[in-house]
Amino acid sequence: MFHLFLHFLIPFAIASLFYREQWLKPFLIMMLATLIDLDHLIADPIYDPNRCSIGFHPLHSLVPCTLYALLLISRKTRLLGLGLCIHIALDSIDCQVTNGIWYFQKTTEELALWL
Ligand SMILES: [Zn+2]
Repeated sequence: MFHLFLHFLIPFAIASLFYREQWLKPFLIMMLATLIDLDHLIADPIYDPNRCSIGFHPLHSLVPCTLYALLLISRKTRLLGLGLCIHIALDSIDCQVTNGIWYFQKTTEELALWL
């Protein structure tokens, strides 16, 4: 539950620290990053507190994470990219805390299911 709270707290802290009075719009843009958790809807079960989402869910895997980092380059997409990178970092930390791993490594059979 603390993990979910951090998904709100960290973007809020960054927005209020760097954008002061105009914190709301940057905060909401960074919060859009939580939409990547919609990929949990295609997992069974939808939510498993002991499952590491990094590397398991499609929008939490290597290729999308690389694109999230690339969003940091352009000023126009930087806040969204920052929100996405914060989201992935928090999920990865949660994996370490709950499972002792930073990311989930799919087996060859699991990778074949996605191809
Ligand atoms: Zn997530």
